[in-house]
Amino acid sequence: MHKTLDSKLPHVGTTIFSVMSRLAEETGAINLSQGFPSFEPPDALLERFEHYLTHGANQYAPMSGVPSLLRAIANKTFRTQGRSLDTENELTVSTGATEGLFSAITALIRPGDEVIVLDPAYDAYEPAIELSGGRAVHVPLAIHDDEFVVDWQPVADAVSPKTRAIVLNFPHNPTGAVIGRDGLDTLASLLRDTDVYVISDEVYEHIVFDDVLHDSVLSHDELWERSIVISSFGKTFHATGWKVGYAAAPAHLTTEFRKVHQFTTFAVNTPAQFALADYLESDPAFYLALSGFYQQKRDLFCDLLEPSRLRLRPSRSTFFQVADYSEISDQPDVEVAEQWTTDNGIATIPLSVFCETPFSGHRLRFCFAKDDETLTRAAEILCEL
Ligand code: PMP
Ligand code: GLN
Repeated sequence: MHKTLDSKLPHVGTTIFSVMSRLAEETGAINLSQGFPSFEPPDALLERFEHYLTHGANQYAPMSGVPSLLRAIANKTFRTQGRSLDTENELTVSTGATEGLFSAITALIRPGDEVIVLDPAYDAYEPAIELSGGRAVHVPLAIHDDEFVVDWQPVADAVSPKTRAIVLNFPHNPTGAVIGRDGLDTLASLLRDTDVYVISDEVYEHIVFDDVLHDSVLSHDELWERSIVISSFGKTFHATGWKVGYAAAPAHLTTEFRKVHQFTTFAVNTPAQFALADYLESDPAFYLALSGFYQQKRDLFCDLLEPSRLRLRPSRSTFFQVADYSEISDQPDVEVAEQWTTDNGIATIPLSVFCETPFSGHRLRFCFAKDDETLTRAAEILCEL
């Protein structure tokens, strides 16, 4: 018999998103766990996809992306963040944000490097860091009045001569925290005399609430010079299954990014790229209205949970709401998430799986990217707990 493979990722199991969605399916529970909308992409975008599928756009796209999509992304970036991107040298279409993150991390990280991640940290970062021989250094967000915020002093303390990069994720999954202009300025000043790179995962860039606009690393001249900014159309156009994203970075970083990207995936789904290009240009109102659309969902969900024993502060961004369940149970969050799925018919994501230490306490993440009826049924169950 062949010798058992010595795992390159011995601590990694199946992601919590697959585990919880599968459990929800098996038990018939309402699935507020894995983050995906229960609604379809806009009709005009679907029509464009269909059009390109039947009009000869079915072979390989250029490695860096279809030119019309690169232009449309550059137009959007100029409109929303004021940065003019050079589409030849500073922008690459990726197979979702996941491939963008993997290629960025692979391009930057070498054996022995440290990479700062902020806990709770989205689960795709650390395995990619480890596969490149790096080590994730976890810095917890602070919790003030049930709200997660960045405490920059521990971040500053974590920077060492071995630090190669910091991974940012604002708007933040799972907590909905935002970084703000002040946060970007603080980060810029603390990295000023270092060679640390920034990998900024901004997939929820168009979902920020209460009249706050997203402060992207793209809008910050000093940080931009050392950054790879990753985004995705999955969240923006209710199309998580299309897996089309992009990476924006200064030319010297884009060159290195593309060296990996071309051998990770080479090129991205051609008809989807053409369709997204047309739709981005023809209906910018859709992504500009997305925050308002999701804010109504957030408000509905939070109002419906008012009589429950869950404690929460309305999320500032993303389509996730975090709530503290400690008045209902003192069990660990992973057990509670499983039990509520199988016994009560409601699936959520436990926050501790995103943390090196379970500092986040008795908290669960609820995805509110669902039709109002589903949110109402979910809240009825939650109010009885
Ligand atoms: N980063 C974050 C923070 C996410 O929540 C997700 C998943 N939606 C991704 C990256 C991956 O995005 P994609 O589905 O485009 O690969
Ligand atoms: N980003 C989604 C979430 O946070 C899930 C993505 C995935 O399933 N890998 O729920």
